[in-house]
This record gives sequence, structure tokens and C-alpha cells, in this order.
Amino acid sequence: MIIGAVTIWLFAWAILGLPDGKLRVWFLDIGQGDAILMRLPAGEWVMVDGGPDAKVLDWMGRIMPFYERRLELVINSHPHADHLNGLVEVLARYDVENLWISGVKYNYAGYQKMLEEAADAGTRIVYTSGKDARIGKVGFDLIYPQRSLQGEGMENVNNSSIVFRLIYAGQRIFFSGDLEEQKETELMRVNGLNLESDILKAGHHGSKTSNTEEFVRRIGPEYAVISCGVDNKFKHPFPGTLERFGRMGMTVYRTDLDGTVEVEIGEDLKITSS
Ligand SMILES: [Zn+2]
Repeated sequence: MIIGAVTIWLFAWAILGLPDGKLRVWFLDIGQGDAILMRLPAGEWVMVDGGPDAKVLDWMGRIMPFYERRLELVINSHPHADHLNGLVEVLARYDVENLWISGVKYNYAGYQKMLEEAADAGTRIVYTSGKDARIGKVGFDLIYPQRSLQGEGMENVNNSSIVFRLIYAGQRIFFSGDLEEQKETELMRVNGLNLESDILKAGHHGSKTSNTEEFVRRIGPEYAVISCGVDNKFKHPFPGTLERFGRMGMTVYRTDLDGTVEVEIGEDLKITSS
């Protein structure tokens, strides 16, 4: 009887876990930081940043079927602790095929640890260089940096953030890491750069130093997701950013208030929070 129930349960889990042609993106409620998990329509798992600590593992355990131990791709937008620390845990526990980084030089022990974990596990480290990529039917339109920053120092590593659009079934999600105003302005000067997107992962947790009006207008999103912690010491998001998004007619989701935000892209776009 018990064996029968377990078999049915395992079978149901296996069926539920089968790819269904939809792209799912979870902006995880991991406190102050960014951690975004995705399941591509053919079943591959991708992660963008891992948040400040091991909390990301709880979410992965809840969302991914227990037998899934492989991630096709992990992207670390930039090497600040609130984006990187959780990835060290992920690299140590999951089989990560590819790790994308800008290669920026930054003196932080956690950064070194992440690279060591990747090297130990045989993960392929790729320094992004603006070259677009594709996994199955999902496009990764790499916007910034346009060349590898390998070994280069930068005054503010927020401005080394890997910026890209995720494109599937005519829907586009804009990932901006913690890119700040100076680089937003620079990007707008690049000829022929298409930034248009339906959803914006707000820059730098909705801070005052990102999400300039002109930049957000160029993106023209209908929705924004702000990843930030409850009562965080940085006071993210900045009230002026929220006011701006509201004035631009955008619907805003926040991980501090809404919890984990799930985006599902299939025939249409669905956003829910839990
Ligand atoms: Zn950050």
C-alpha cells in the first residue's frame, strides 16, 4: 500500500517535472540581493546570481524536482556578495555546465572561492563579450559589456554588470544587474542598440543610482520586478524609482512585499507571486 502510494507520487512528480514548452523565471525571495532561477522550455535550468547566502538552495529544493542536479548555465552579473555568495553554494552542490562572468578584477575572497568551485567541478568559465547566445529556442541578447573585462579593474563593479535580454515566444525580459546611471547613459548612446523589453528586472534593487527615466523609457517595459530585502539597510527601493515606474504605467512586483515572483511565458505572459 505504502509502496503503491510512493510509486504514484514519484510518477506524478516525474510527469509534472516534464518540460511543457513554457519558459519559467523565478525571482527568488532571498532577502537583499538578486537570485533568479529559470527553467527553459526544453527543460534546462539556468540561474542568474545567487543572492547573499545559502537561502537560494532552499528555493532550488522547492522548485526543482529532487532528481535535477544539473544547471546548463549560471550567470554572475557582477562579483558583489549579494549576487555571488549563493552561487558558491550552488556550484558546490549542483553540476553547473557553464559559468558566465564579465571577468572584472575585484578583490573579494568569495569571488575567488566561486572561481575555485567552478574550476574544481570542471565548469566551463566564459567571459562574456557581447556575443549573443541561444539555448534551444531561448535567446540571450547580450547588451553589456561589449567586450570581456577579464583582468580589468573598475572603480564601481556595479558598472561591470552583465546586462542582457532573455527572449522567448516574442516576450523579452531585461536583466540589468546593478548597472548604474553612468553606464545606462553610455548604453543609450550606442547606435542601433535594441533595449525594448516587456519585463524589467529593475537595476540595482530599485536604487536611486539606477533606472533613469530615459533608460527605462527606451526599454519600455509593462512590468518591473524589484529584488530587495524587507527593511534593508540601503532603503531599496528608492521611493522616486517607484513613483517613476508608476507614472510610466508599469506594474511593479517586489520580492520584499510579494515574495518570490514567477513569470511564465508560453502562449501568453503570466506573472504570479508567492
Ligand atoms: Zn546588488
